[in-house]
Amino acid sequence: MTKAIDLSGTPKLGFGMMRLPKLADDKKKIDIEQTCKMVDLFMEAGFTYFDTAYVYDGGASEEAVRKALVERYPRDSYTIATKLNAWLGKPDEAAAKQQLETSLERLGVDYVDYYLLHALQLNNRDVYADYKLWDFVRGQKEKGLIRHWGFSFHGTPEMLDDLLKENPDAEFVQLQINYADWEDSHIASRACYEIARKHNKPIVVMEPVKGGTLANPPEKLAKIFKEANPDASYASWAIRYVASLDGILTVLSGMSNIDQMKDNLSYMKDFKPLNSEEQKVIGQAQQIIRDAGAIPCTACHYCTKGCPQEIPIPDIFRAINMNRIYQSMEEAKGRYTNATAKCGKASDCIQCGQCEDACPQSLPIIELLQEAVDLFE
Ligand code: SF4
Ligand code: SF4
Repeated sequence: MTKAIDLSGTPKLGFGMMRLPKLADDKKKIDIEQTCKMVDLFMEAGFTYFDTAYVYDGGASEEAVRKALVERYPRDSYTIATKLNAWLGKPDEAAAKQQLETSLERLGVDYVDYYLLHALQLNNRDVYADYKLWDFVRGQKEKGLIRHWGFSFHGTPEMLDDLLKENPDAEFVQLQINYADWEDSHIASRACYEIARKHNKPIVVMEPVKGGTLANPPEKLAKIFKEANPDASYASWAIRYVASLDGILTVLSGMSNIDQMKDNLSYMKDFKPLNSEEQKVIGQAQQIIRDAGAIPCTACHYCTKGCPQEIPIPDIFRAINMNRIYQSMEEAKGRYTNATAKCGKASDCIQCGQCEDACPQSLPIIELLQEAVDLFE
């Protein structure tokens, strides 16, 4: 039997290793020397949680963890989290199960501390069930190859509740939480957080800075943060906000260079939760985001099931929201292009109205798709 997860004993910053620094003369290769320096700074500051995944950088992230961490530090001085991905690249059941053995080899360890089923969401939930991967991780834990298992999650609050009812022995969950998405109808950080708390699950936070968006917020948000504290980085507000929540195992920050590492360590080394004045500033920022008038799409996908043109409606609405809230046209357009690369575009809509009949939020989908055409096509 392994011990239960020690919430109080785990420092509140985790090193997300999805976007490690690349070599100046070969952008495809991870800069191991710089990664070693980042690992050293992180460990010197007393942090211990390293997060990677089978699919990050085609396996190079796990190998970088071995070179920069495992081969340089005693095994009991850090913890490693990695993930099994059953849908990217469409592995069959055997290939999905083989991932753990490959991860252990790449990492150069004989067990992982935290093992996650990766990125559970509405459209891949069945694969994890059909391949019996929930039982697979239970079995690997019994064999001693995994210390703790859980899953990372991108679905609806209802789906999270279902999964935790079906798998009450999951030991932790990894959720997208940040102050901007706290009340977001699509990501639903608050609702997911509350469900995890209801089930008494420790929470690993991902996307605390919303993929970097909150490190460089729009002018209105930037102004209130600078007025409140001219010396604090925008990222520090975002990371301290989530680290101040109860029940957090750790907050993953995806760090890509030494400067980001130093910034994170400057306020997380001697972490102080946000005080009541600082919480008010976050409240003002959240109000500005609410006032931006995001489309209240919950990504339930009822609308897409019968769309004859296979238009990814909720993903298109996310792109519109990126522009409405953050005035980030470049990122919004990138999201739109990715979302529509292999299916229908907004301009393919034939206005049959099926989606509007199916939408529980009664959204004027046809009109909103026209907005996407005007913005992105
Ligand atoms: S109205 Fe357009 S988006 Fe809606 S179901 Fe019909 S084709 Fe698809
Ligand atoms: S049915 Fe409505 S709320 Fe659900 S994904 Fe479609 S547009 Fe969004």
